[in-house]
Amino acid sequence: MTNSDDVTGDENPPDPGELVLTPSRDANVGGLAVRRALPTRGRRTVGAWCFVDHMGPASITPERSFDVAPHPHIGLQTVTWLFSGAFLHRDSLGSEQLIRAGELNLMTSGHGVAHSEENPGLTSGEMHGMQLWVALPSTSRDGAAGFEHLTGLPMLDLANASATVLVGSFGSFESKARHDTAHVGVELDLHGGRTSFALERTYEYALIVASGEVFLDGQVITTGQLAYVGAQRDECVLETKGGARAMLIGGEPFDEKPFMWWNFVARTQDEITAAWRAWTTRDDRFAPVASPFERIEVAPPPWLTSSL
Ligand code: MN
Repeated sequence: MTNSDDVTGDENPPDPGELVLTPSRDANVGGLAVRRALPTRGRRTVGAWCFVDHMGPASITPERSFDVAPHPHIGLQTVTWLFSGAFLHRDSLGSEQLIRAGELNLMTSGHGVAHSEENPGLTSGEMHGMQLWVALPSTSRDGAAGFEHLTGLPMLDLANASATVLVGSFGSFESKARHDTAHVGVELDLHGGRTSFALERTYEYALIVASGEVFLDGQVITTGQLAYVGAQRDECVLETKGGARAMLIGGEPFDEKPFMWWNFVARTQDEITAAWRAWTTRDDRFAPVASPFERIEVAPPPWLTSSL
């Protein structure tokens, strides 16, 4: 995924236990309409989660493909999860990995990585999924890059639902995916009716509805909304009528203040400038990606041009 806009805003912490609904913003990534649920004007992070794009569902055809050309990342992990469809991940580490529905691609950028996400031409039909970013803590954000592909993630049955643990721990189930902070990501496939599960009191949580409607605390959460659930809860009770699919994200509140611009997560403007310059000058901080697509170039960050 790439991020073409920049959202900053003051944190406006709600009262503990207060549900806050925010609409997603429409964006376009690689020719596909996406709904960007995070960051929002009032909220930069949920735990260390700092970005959520909900892509599709969209019909992939030879004429209407989904291709994101090579672009760089720093300071984050990309967590890619498909509900349907497939695409090919290539990166500057030499990884080439097809991802299908129910599989996890987890790329850790550390100090720098570049990747592409391409329609493999092997698939047509519906493409539906999410890409989320996790801000890396200062202990690893300038470390080595890595990529992992996980299948057979832990799945558990709840009343009227099944849950797949992408990252972190949920109940007694734990994903093997790398995590550098205390956070969790769970896909919830809600079959209709009432579903409840335990929460970590010290984690803050949010729910992003991918299809259907979910009722929580007497409010309806619709597709394209991020519901900030907050912290200090022991339990979450969800209800659906006709079934729904949602992503639950959470974690210990991120105690560093990420500064995001384009596809970079840093702490200062100077760090972003250095990453932009390294990409633009083809510095070896970002090794080439073996992709048939041309690299994505981007204009300088605004603080460079405004002083010219
Ligand atoms: Mn990306």
